[in-house]
Amino acid sequence: MKARDPDISVQYLGKVGPKRAAALAEHGLHTIRDLLYYFPFGYIDLTKVEKISSLKQFMDSGKWITAIGEVRAFDLIGRPPRQRFVVVLGDDTATIQLVFFGSIGFFKKAFSIGETLAVSGKVTGFRGRPQIVHPSIDRIHAADETGEAGLLHTRGIVPKYGSSGDLRSVNLHVKALRQIMRAAVEGYADQIEENLPPEILKRHHLMPIAPALRSIHFPESQDDLERARHRLKFDELFTLQLMLALRRNRVKMGMPGISFGVKSKLARRLVDALPFKLTKAQVRVVKEIAADMNSPRPMNRLLQGDVGSGKTIVALIAMLIAIENGYQAAFMAPTEILAEQHFMTLNGFLKDLPIRVRLLLGGQRAKVRDGVLEDVRGGSAQLIVGTHALIQADVEFSKLGLVIIDEQHRFGVTQRVALKEKGEAAGGPTPHPDVLVMTATPIPRTLSLTIYGDLDVSIINELPSNRLPVETLLKFNADHQWIHRFIKSRVGAKAQAYIVYPLVEESEKLDLKAATESYELLKSKVFADFNVGLIHGRMPGEEKDTVMAAFKSGNLQILVATSVIEVGIDIPNASVMVIEHAERFGLSQLHQLRGRVGRGAAQSTCIMVAPDWMGKLLRRRSTPDLPGGEQDDQVKAVRRLTTMLETADGFKIAETDLEIRGPGDFFGTRQSGLPELRIADLTTDEDLLKLARGEAFNLLEQDPHLRLPEHQSLRNSLSSRTKEVFALIDVG
Ligand code: ADP
Ligand code: MG
Repeated sequence: MKARDPDISVQYLGKVGPKRAAALAEHGLHTIRDLLYYFPFGYIDLTKVEKISSLKQFMDSGKWITAIGEVRAFDLIGRPPRQRFVVVLGDDTATIQLVFFGSIGFFKKAFSIGETLAVSGKVTGFRGRPQIVHPSIDRIHAADETGEAGLLHTRGIVPKYGSSGDLRSVNLHVKALRQIMRAAVEGYADQIEENLPPEILKRHHLMPIAPALRSIHFPESQDDLERARHRLKFDELFTLQLMLALRRNRVKMGMPGISFGVKSKLARRLVDALPFKLTKAQVRVVKEIAADMNSPRPMNRLLQGDVGSGKTIVALIAMLIAIENGYQAAFMAPTEILAEQHFMTLNGFLKDLPIRVRLLLGGQRAKVRDGVLEDVRGGSAQLIVGTHALIQADVEFSKLGLVIIDEQHRFGVTQRVALKEKGEAAGGPTPHPDVLVMTATPIPRTLSLTIYGDLDVSIINELPSNRLPVETLLKFNADHQWIHRFIKSRVGAKAQAYIVYPLVEESEKLDLKAATESYELLKSKVFADFNVGLIHGRMPGEEKDTVMAAFKSGNLQILVATSVIEVGIDIPNASVMVIEHAERFGLSQLHQLRGRVGRGAAQSTCIMVAPDWMGKLLRRRSTPDLPGGEQDDQVKAVRRLTTMLETADGFKIAETDLEIRGPGDFFGTRQSGLPELRIADLTTDEDLLKLARGEAFNLLEQDPHLRLPEHQSLRNSLSSRTKEVFALIDVG
């Protein structure tokens, strides 16, 4: 073993025994290298600390200052609603009051006399005296530390590390973590080998890796910190883009595809018989797809188009091209309800064409399923619609030429790959099937360059011209009578309505109960004169079919549903969408749900119903910004709903969604099988992302298999991160 190998267990550091090592491992921190890449989530800047006596001069200046002092006293003052919690902070020059409103119970327990705090904020005046309202606070651990160890926590720019319950249970608090990090950085940062090629470092004036790792943990100045962050962000984005470029290369160069003849009589007949004219955007994307299908390289394309833009018909045209060339086409949807709907819709479009369409679902009876499997294997099934059931091991295609995945964001990349491989498995060295993935969830550019960075992109940027914008209303629980009257008036006039209740995994049972109970009440009391149906994911497949068919045919006028109908469902006569507990839905979900209406020529309405507290919150001018989770969640919910009121533009909605949720959460890079971003931020680092992408694609063009000597350390660092890379680098 090398003396200073960063890939040894964290246990080799002082102060880390087996218990702490186990807790760190729970956090994914196994080796010292892992620790070095566990970046602080923030810093306390103690380089410019003001004496408390000097704070007066900053009163009402709006300047953000930092001071350090000791807690001398604290108390609750005044009566509600002006009640506030006051902490007196003092140093050797003076004292100042820190003032907190709201969450009094929390603050009462938060402080102890004698502890040292660093506080930052703006100094304001109250009756002529300086105070700081809601300062940001960090505990300083000075009292029991002397010498170098003490300075670690009280001087310079001090890092803050995330410490959760299980880390704290082994006494890995902020302070102890900081000490362990210091030991890791001191002992091992210099051992991390540089992975970026020298010419890239030079071209972009990037800090080499070792100093960058030192400075991200223990920066000497803000400037130093900024440079370290820049380097590490670039590194992260570059690695990501390199992997995407490798994936793309594999598809482009590695494998032979099918060159379809794209003059399709079937497609022509279909288009001529349509009751509508394709939009310009639909025609354009059909051409893009046809060009890909014609090329001997496998297609790997994303079709993006907002809800209702007409992606299904585009998919069908592509499938007819494949079928006319003697291949099978597979069409995969994320839910049984949607697969079922596609099956019916496609059959409808194809009623005058000699195409054999089959449906494959997980919930089918064995006899039916075996029959379908037989047809797929034998080749008599030409177009196969299904759910995940399509990628089960026992499904064999005779000659799969085209794979279409609808609502791709609901699947992982693994599933995309699995279906494609069905084509490869079909008897020896057959060419790759073409792949088209479709999504209505518009994604901000930065994300499409990451999650879908290995795909070519076609966009339908136009809705069919017969659409009216959906009227969107925000109502509250107290408005239910009004809402019910509204539904009656519309449904009485022949329209149909959805009433949707939230259902999330964590509280599935309760949610289901709530939805079912509301259904009973609506059916028997509120809407007794109408036909009301219920649908949710837990119902047996056949029952779901019956309900959907009854709603589609108009026999049911009101459909009470959980979010199973969120994606893809297309019933143009439905023109009212009521979303109960709208505050519980995510922004893209709300957008999808609203997209279920406005699909026909009638004026549609979407009513979001929120709890009464939100009404009060909205009527108040400003929302107090208190620290703490609950408040934050409420503010976010308000923001989601007001966004829905302000815009119907899927891109704007997606961008706001990204802002609210943060990129980690936004159908994470996790599901894409790509490394997670720890430091780069897709909401703010778009320029850097593009730079890194340019360099990554450029580098692979010169050295597609990373064989040049100057790329060896890059190759090593990539393959240490993920196994996939081996496969990608070594093809062809
Ligand atoms: P999405 O893109 O959300 O999947 P669909 O493919 O379900 O949208 O299409 C929505 C509805 O619009 C369907 O009823 C479809 O038949 C209809 N449609 C598709 N293209 C056009 C068009 N060019 N003009 C009018 N209606 C269209
Ligand atoms: Mg669709």
